[in-house]
Amino acid sequence: MITILNDNFSQLNEFLHEKSFSKIFILVDENTHEYCLPVLLGNMETDLGFEILEIEAGEEMKNIQTANQLWEILTEMQADRKALVINLGGGVITDMGGFVASTYKRGIQFINIPTTLLSMCDASIGGKTGIDLMHFKNMVGTFTFPEQIFIYPKFLETLPFKELRSGFAEMLKHGLIADQAHWENLVHINKLDTESVTPYIETSMNIKQNVVDQDFHEKNIRKTLNFGHTIGHAIESLCLSQGNPILHGEAVAAGMICEAHLSYLEGLLSGEDAKVIIESIQKYYPYLDISDFKDEDIFALLLNDKKNVDSKINFSLLSGIGTCIFDHQSSQKNIIESLNFYRN
Ligand code: NAD
Ligand code: ZN
Repeated sequence: MITILNDNFSQLNEFLHEKSFSKIFILVDENTHEYCLPVLLGNMETDLGFEILEIEAGEEMKNIQTANQLWEILTEMQADRKALVINLGGGVITDMGGFVASTYKRGIQFINIPTTLLSMCDASIGGKTGIDLMHFKNMVGTFTFPEQIFIYPKFLETLPFKELRSGFAEMLKHGLIADQAHWENLVHINKLDTESVTPYIETSMNIKQNVVDQDFHEKNIRKTLNFGHTIGHAIESLCLSQGNPILHGEAVAAGMICEAHLSYLEGLLSGEDAKVIIESIQKYYPYLDISDFKDEDIFALLLNDKKNVDSKINFSLLSGIGTCIFDHQSSQKNIIESLNFYRN
């Protein structure tokens, strides 16, 4: 269940009173420790003891070494099966904390309190937990729902602009795949900031939750959430491997431009709709220089995508603004043309 918190966090306090937890562990990174933890502790009313678990910020921490450290700390602090883990942070914290909690002693309870726009609208919802392995993202993980998700949009006030814009890409995606009115509202925002995006967080959350409710294990409609992500992930990985990491949403924005054009080339989307989509996304995101990326390197990554079966590249593509199809196999010629379209 997703709850938007009041300023006094009363719904969280009710939740903590109703359930009989033995102890609370709050997982933060250095930034959410500084900016979000004081707000949580200032409002949390509980007689239970709690411990703060802090990790360094960043995707590089989302690995088995960190998970192992956290499992060890939980063991040393005698966390039993009635302990609660509160994940207070962005997607790295909710993925990592969810993974550690869902595996420790075969699973203890956890809640997510997302603090980035990306985690509010996307990562904290849907029950996917996980860590990266070697240079592959989210290779090891579980499907486990948090007990609850509590959203407090004011946490966004301290979030750097680039992080906010990164999360906004997922909101645009939600509009494009499922809700034209949501898309229209978002693209009418002129200045991206906490205030302008906050009214639309709930709709994005609900779109994600609704899709997940229909298809938890990603057999069908959940695949639509991958729009922009097939090419987007390849761009994200190549930038990273060249020592020039970019934010996930920045890669997804570029991926959505390529895949909107690909939807058009494949005869699914009208040229007019494709043009509107591409121009709207370009309004928010600077051009990423992918001119040096070789087609074969991009294809190698596309073929490695977790969504593929039998070495075929599966795309989720738009058939209109607000409608998306999945398991579409595009021709190699059109994939290359969509990349060249972006390059030019
Ligand atoms: P993140 O957790 O790294 O947070 C981004 C940065 O913002 C970090 O430096 C963090 O310390 C800082 N931060 C967080 N909240 C802040 C606040 N309120 N004020 C100031 N700084 C703050 O990254 P993210 O973009 O939230 O999430 C990305 C991760 O989410 C990736 O690992 C991705 O794989 C994962 N993800 C998971 C799912 C899923 O379904 N499980 C979906 C999408 C993304
Ligand atoms: Zn994403």
